[in-house]
Amino acid sequence: AKESPEALLAFAKEQGLVELDLRFTDIRGIVQHFSMPLSMVDADSFEEGFGFDGSSVRGFQTINVSDMILFPDLSTAIVDPFFSLPTLAIKCDVSDPISREPYANDPRGIARRAEEYLLSTGIGDVAYFGPEAEFFLFTNVSYETGPNKSYYEVDSHEASWNTASKDPAMNYLNRVKEGYFPLPPLDKTQDVRSDMVQTLMGAGIDIEVHHHEVGGAGQAEIDMRFDSLLRMCDKVLDYKYIVKNVAAKYGLIATFMPKPLFGDNGSGMHVHQSIWKDGKPLFGGDKYAGLSDMALWYIGGVLKHAQALLALTNPTTNSYRRLVPGYEAPVNLVYSARNRSAAIRIPMYSSSPKAKRVETRFPDPTANPYLALPALLMAGIDGIKNQIDPGNPFEIDLYESEDVETPTTPPTLGGALQALAEDHDFLLEGGVFTKEYLEMYIDYKQTQEADQVAMRPHPYEFNMYFDF
Ligand code: GLN
Ligand code: MG
Ligand code: MG
Ligand code: MG
Repeated sequence: AKESPEALLAFAKEQGLVELDLRFTDIRGIVQHFSMPLSMVDADSFEEGFGFDGSSVRGFQTINVSDMILFPDLSTAIVDPFFSLPTLAIKCDVSDPISREPYANDPRGIARRAEEYLLSTGIGDVAYFGPEAEFFLFTNVSYETGPNKSYYEVDSHEASWNTASKDPAMNYLNRVKEGYFPLPPLDKTQDVRSDMVQTLMGAGIDIEVHHHEVGGAGQAEIDMRFDSLLRMCDKVLDYKYIVKNVAAKYGLIATFMPKPLFGDNGSGMHVHQSIWKDGKPLFGGDKYAGLSDMALWYIGGVLKHAQALLALTNPTTNSYRRLVPGYEAPVNLVYSARNRSAAIRIPMYSSSPKAKRVETRFPDPTANPYLALPALLMAGIDGIKNQIDPGNPFEIDLYESEDVETPTTPPTLGGALQALAEDHDFLLEGGVFTKEYLEMYIDYKQTQEADQVAMRPHPYEFNMYFDF
């Protein structure tokens, strides 16, 4: 029922839906939306586009040219699982009202263009992405102090899950880094995760597995089945929306902040990637870890551009508190089979060429998927086109080996933005990213986020310096 506006509207009527909700994202990957009665909408509205003021959306137009229009992408329509009134929700592409051309600052357009660019190179016809977005569930969070009043001075989770719940199971101790993965009552999130999974499946998002994660204080992971680039970017946004709203139903708060608790694992968003052509997988072969040359060059490209990529895949000041040794998050920009301390891991669960993929482990779930996933693909394509040698794999535990010298992740958001400012030509190929957009992005992230944190006294500074 989704091929034409007429068919979609007929479906909506039949289902008794009463509102239409249109969605797109800003530069940060935060979904923006507005709604209208479905009775006011006809097939022509979809042709004409839906107008809105783009001037107050972060990373969009300035006030003097603020009118923008949305064209709904019918293939993304879902019935919203949470709105009280039955609502048809659709993701949209942002366009200029005069030229009616796609708007260059619409992040979703970047993902579209990346798919077109891959096709134009002849390398493959589809790139599959499988992001694993981890998150924490907390009972009690303050915007000022986070989930635990003294999170910056203790390495236990006293105040996070066990705010003395009436449910006795809730009072089981959650040990730091021991959440992976015993049965209830230690696993306190089975039911809420299962509910999330069923809601995700109901919204057309196939889930392969869900489990408690290593973080003791209610860290969770729910893994989506891989999908093509643009579809997967859309799904990441629906995933976060559904996870947060199901959590809310249980009186919990879900956060995708990469490092909410000092001393415990953070939340990553590892991204599995592969390229296919004519229905055949191109990453399986007879080279290292069962990979093809193409896959190794892809790795070469991702590693070469990793420091710049991080500005897009790890785009918050908090992202860099996760990328420290000892928490299954990478610091060393190297690759390896099975090694979870390396930036790129080759999963070895299956030897089938179809299952051969590259897992990039530095990204985190604060990334705007429409920027991060295309950027990874562009780095990989650059590697393939230029046959970039990824160097030797590292089989050792990189956290334990102080004498290995490898490139590392930048220590701060500012460092990654600097790297992106110096290394971005690979993103401009095929017009996928524009220079103007990247410049605006770097300026926005530096002035509105990195500088904002740098200028404020940090809570831990009081602990260290107050009595000097
Ligand atoms: N939470 C870890 C990270 O920050 C990953 C843990 C895992 O999936 N093995 O990336
Ligand atoms: Mg996983
Ligand atoms: Mg995990
Ligand atoms: Mg993983």
